[in-house]
Amino acid sequence: MREEFDVAVVGAGPAGTSAAYVLASSGVSVAIVEKAQLPRYKTCGGGLLHRAVRSLPVGISPVIEREFRSVQMILSPRLRFEVHRPSPIVTMTMRDALDHLLVEAAAGKGATVLQARAVTDLRTTSDRVELKTDAGAIAAKFVIAADGAGSTIAKLAGFGDGRFMVPALECEIEVSPESFEQHATTARFDFDRIPFGYAWVFPKRSHLSVGALSLKPEAVKLHEVLDDYLRRLSIRPLTIHRHGYVIPLSPRSDGFARSRVLLSGDAAGFADPVTAEGITFAVGSGQLAARAIVEGKLQALVVEKTYEQLVEQFILPELRIARRLAKLLYFHPTARDAIFAMFGPRLTEAMTRIVTGESTYNETVPQIVIPRYSEGSRTHCGTEIPRGTAG
Ligand SMILES: Cc1cc2nc3c(=O)[nH]c(=O)nc-3n(C[C@H](O)[C@H](O)[C@H](O)COP(=O)(O)OP(=O)(O)OC[C@H]3O[C@@H](n4cnc5c(N)ncnc54)[C@H](O)[C@@H]3O)c2cc1C
Repeated sequence: MREEFDVAVVGAGPAGTSAAYVLASSGVSVAIVEKAQLPRYKTCGGGLLHRAVRSLPVGISPVIEREFRSVQMILSPRLRFEVHRPSPIVTMTMRDALDHLLVEAAAGKGATVLQARAVTDLRTTSDRVELKTDAGAIAAKFVIAADGAGSTIAKLAGFGDGRFMVPALECEIEVSPESFEQHATTARFDFDRIPFGYAWVFPKRSHLSVGALSLKPEAVKLHEVLDDYLRRLSIRPLTIHRHGYVIPLSPRSDGFARSRVLLSGDAAGFADPVTAEGITFAVGSGQLAARAIVEGKLQALVVEKTYEQLVEQFILPELRIARRLAKLLYFHPTARDAIFAMFGPRLTEAMTRIVTGESTYNETVPQIVIPRYSEGSRTHCGTEIPRGTAG
């Protein structure tokens, strides 16, 4: 028996659920095909910048662990900045709960949810895509690949890669009540503790999510620097669960739509290179993929062209500027610190406007002239993290 839909969305993360929500709301028959049993843990800080929150179609109050109206950015002992807003700058969630809320929202609009179904193969014919899963076949006129950084769908559909993959660690840590009190008051981003990257403390309802990433993984032993970071902050874990995965900090180089398959979120490489935050553009690209299908009236060539145009209009210009800023932030710490010593409050305020969605990179920083990534700074998909579990 083969199940048939207009659209099969592979992956129940923010990209997939956002696409499915728009499609189902527009009366398109859509299935979310997810390999895990839901809700499922996802390796992620679970920090939702306000620009992501405002792009979601539903309120997230049931899954809020903690909200922060002020955030600390620490570049060195002398260069510490704190920004404030009347409404939350970053909202802390756990991704199992957040993603499940978004799945249920899409299902509420009429999307079919097929969970514990891994897609293992894909074949495109003239008028549809046939998906093989470990529990039967699915046919659809279009497939939205929202299956994350490791995207099986992109590989099966023949997309090239070229994404800049950065390993990242996430630790879920229980500490004593006194220690939790001490660390739960602020969300902090430390840029001076990890070479070519940053470390963070995201306080949740009753535990700390602490993580680290480096854009030059060959120069850094992430587990060691994270342990050092914990020691320096006097965070003494009672329990610690380590998870490692990768974040794609640059997009694929050969397009995002072909043969009735549209790539979204991490599968496309749409995480923000400055913040390494992926949820905003995962949601945005999922919504754009759905919009292309609806506006293109399910005509393959029109849909594919429309999606490429929408990505070029709304996502790629932001990522281009962000990549150049990331180069300064992570690869030129001396210049970075000199610039922040002079303009720190103005720069952190500008960054806050971007991450809250009050402004964009293009509106805020077009005049900043900084070098592009050199080819020598690229790493590739499949970077292994020595310890921990892949998410
Ligand atoms: C350590 C770490 C910390 C991070 N912290 C943050 C943060 O605080 N804030 C933030 O905004 N971003 C953060 N990110 C990035 C963020 O997690 C991703 O950018 C985001 O989850 C991408 O969403 P997505 O929907 O594209 O894919 P995902 O959320 O990865 O969802 C993909 C889904 O596809 C499913 N799937 C995969 N293969 C198949 C298959 N073959 N068949 C069926 N289903 C499949 C997976 O099970 C999964 O549910 C972090 C990433 C890491 C690694």
